Amino acid sequence: MQDVWSAVQGSLRERLGPQNYEIWIEPIQMLPTSGDAVRLRVPNRYYRDWVRENFGKAITEELHRYLQARVPVEFQVADTGTEDAVDGAEPTEELEPIRPTAGRGLPTIPGVSADKTFRNFVVGACNQFAHAAAQAAAEAPGEQQYNPLFIYGGTGLGKTHLMHAIGNAMRERDDQVNVVYVTAEQFTNELIDALRYRRMPDFRDRFRKFPDILLIDDVQFLSGKDRTQEELFHTFEDLYKRGKQIVFTADVLPREIEMLEPRLRTRCESGMLADTQPPDMETMVAILRQKSEDMELQLSPELGQWIAGRLRGNVRELEGVLNRLKAAIRLHKVEPSLEVARQHLAGILPEAPTALNADEIIQTVSSFYGLKVGDVKGTRRLKQVVRPRHVAMYLVRTHTELSFPDIGRVFGGRDHATVQHACKKIRALLGKDADLRNTVETIERMLVR
Ligand code: ADP
Ligand code: MG
Repeated sequence: MQDVWSAVQGSLRERLGPQNYEIWIEPIQMLPTSGDAVRLRVPNRYYRDWVRENFGKAITEELHRYLQARVPVEFQVADTGTEDAVDGAEPTEELEPIRPTAGRGLPTIPGVSADKTFRNFVVGACNQFAHAAAQAAAEAPGEQQYNPLFIYGGTGLGKTHLMHAIGNAMRERDDQVNVVYVTAEQFTNELIDALRYRRMPDFRDRFRKFPDILLIDDVQFLSGKDRTQEELFHTFEDLYKRGKQIVFTADVLPREIEMLEPRLRTRCESGMLADTQPPDMETMVAILRQKSEDMELQLSPELGQWIAGRLRGNVRELEGVLNRLKAAIRLHKVEPSLEVARQHLAGILPEAPTALNADEIIQTVSSFYGLKVGDVKGTRRLKQVVRPRHVAMYLVRTHTELSFPDIGRVFGGRDHATVQHACKKIRALLGKDADLRNTVETIERMLVR
């Protein structure tokens, strides 16, 4: 019997991930069988509840598979000796089990952080659409319009956060739902192992049979990996046919991923494509506020603006910067102030103010398009200057703290609605026009130097 349990533990490790395995599965012992039931010994009640709730199904399935029989599974709690069946009625208890709550960092879904949720995702114009699409997929998984959901955009712009949020939201609503999250790299490695150790049936169970929703992060990694792409294609077909939800992320659009099989590309494109853009100043400040609140760090609006301005849309570095600030405040027992921030963040934030000004931006845009600054700033409606002008307005809006009326003044005294409209238009176009996106990114790189 011990061999059976070791084998089952091996599969569970594969199926639930090493982290879950070490915490929850490894400590379980199998007791000598009594009659027809398999008895598993767990350290305490809290433990039993958690394992039963989260891994009961997996344990039972794996045991049945190895034993080739549907034997009942019972847990025995080591500290009381009480027994009860995995899915049997709960005996009355004098002690309330402590229930782990989401956000305490306990593993609920392997690989998914419980603290990346929709609640703490800051929505701005830059990610509004991706956020809405992710919520829609989480609320009605498998619905054709959002299946698959393909979220794309630059690094650190919240793609993985949204993916985890989908998983967590579905789990919160229904704790029986099977969420599988892997990076494309993990998927590849698991496939290689499965092929090497002849465990393909397990691999297919895990990715085709088991999930109600499959989340695959960073699929650009699959570029040129033919065997993995083939497997993913069949995985997709299988899940899709059965109405299961699939979500992908990548740093670019499917058609911009080099060496992606056409049939996989068309599948990726067949549902909803949603992008995440770098946050504008307001959203950046809001994200900063959210993160500092989570970290119980109180920042003045002035300090928030200062940090956000220096990070220039780089959300990924934000947490590091805030951690550093928090450590400095604790260590030196000081209040967070601009002075303290200047002093202690010097090494990680650009020292000199890097905030761009409108003139610099307009100049760069003009030289990129080979136009005169006066034409870009001016009011003539020539076709060849209108687009560059809108791009310039958009970039000024995103990279400076100027308001719409301020920008209107810079551009020959236009009213704020014109500027607002131009910015909105560019933002919308960036979602679907890869050429424009390239242009804007190139200009941004020229600006940052
Ligand atoms: P990506 O997967 O697009 O590279 P991540 O989802 O890993 O980016 O985001 C990087 C970090 O920034 C994470 O800590 C994430 O929580 C945070 N983040 C990004 N966008 C937002 C947002 N809109 N609201 C809150 N946090 C965000
Ligand atoms: Mg990511």
